Amino acid sequence: MINQKMHELGSKRSCIRDLFEYGLKRAAMVGRENVFDFSLGNPSIPAPEDVKDAFLSIVGKESPLSVHSYTPAPGAIDPRKSVADDLNARYHAGLRPENIYFTCGAAPALIAMIRALTVENAEIVAIAPFFPEYRPFVESSGAKLVVVPADEEAFQIRMDALEAALTSHTQAVIVNSPNNPSGVVYTRETLTALAAILTRKSEEFGHPIYILADEPYRELVYDGVEVPYIPGIYPNTVICYSYSKSLSLPGERIGYFCVPDCAADSAALYAAGAGAARIIGHVCAPSLQQLVVGRCAGIRPDLDAYDRNRTTLYEALTSYGYQCAKPNGAFYMFVRSPRGTAQEFSDRAKAKDVLIVPGGDFGCPDFFRISTCVDHDMLVRSLPIFKALIEE
Ligand code: PLP
Repeated sequence: MINQKMHELGSKRSCIRDLFEYGLKRAAMVGRENVFDFSLGNPSIPAPEDVKDAFLSIVGKESPLSVHSYTPAPGAIDPRKSVADDLNARYHAGLRPENIYFTCGAAPALIAMIRALTVENAEIVAIAPFFPEYRPFVESSGAKLVVVPADEEAFQIRMDALEAALTSHTQAVIVNSPNNPSGVVYTRETLTALAAILTRKSEEFGHPIYILADEPYRELVYDGVEVPYIPGIYPNTVICYSYSKSLSLPGERIGYFCVPDCAADSAALYAAGAGAARIIGHVCAPSLQQLVVGRCAGIRPDLDAYDRNRTTLYEALTSYGYQCAKPNGAFYMFVRSPRGTAQEFSDRAKAKDVLIVPGGDFGCPDFFRISTCVDHDMLVRSLPIFKALIEE
């Protein structure tokens, strides 16, 4: 007999993947230049030169044994120190290498921390719009996902709705900023208000409610906007990070969870995260990637290409009459469907070979997501179609 839940998860593709694969098929039929694929969040700028150089020099010069061998499960100590030092230099974070645990990206870091916090009847809160994978991550761990409805104007957090979502079973709130899919960065004011509510509710319920800060887009911000260091605002915070987007290394699978000393029960929580990683088959994150990250922890991406796409698309779409909160982070735009549900609008766009993701799985069925990590020329050629779609 086969586990039905796993079968369902494995055989039903996400709607993002569905669209992407449809785009590949259409490209084979009508030509790549005639398909406008805005589905995936796959970085469209190459990894920085320094990263490439680090790869080449590590593989070429250092002992192959040390490059390719197992490391301790949390990672080799020197690369973990580089990551801690970088965060300390930027945020006065007071981190030690022992606070960092390398994982194969942000996804397994999140799964480990969700499982570490899943006790009987546990509830984990996500704030719409949210990354759709949170649902299987939470539900497969045995916890319940509780969704806070979106602030559909600014895509900050509706504090009244958040407070109403908290119960004595709430173990954590997942905070994803810069946000996928809205591209919005939560302001310091928003995070301070959130911290006040969580502090008060933690006292009322007699146990800490943690923030799981899902931050793969931390370095992807525009117009000089601040991405506050959340443990500095709310100590009971765990960071789940990834180099997939910031260093354009999504296929290399490297990230970490960081449990700062200021978090309640930090040592036990770190150990529980390690235990949860163990049962999902983590042995160690790829050794080569740990070494690369150890060398490149301080490297920041050149965001000009993403920024140019963001500005071009935002200005064009709003001039045609589309409504959208201006994104100041990540590489997405979350646009209100001009009429009908976003699913209907996405279907109409698909008929014109424009692939945009309807927002239902993100918790916002009236919005669609456009990934702006795409070729600029393709984006510009798609604009007349977006114009025609709203005028139809
Ligand atoms: N969290 C968010 C909000 C994401 O958008 C993604 C990937 O797109 C992830 C987590 C997972 O990232 P990773 O590739 O590091 O597992």
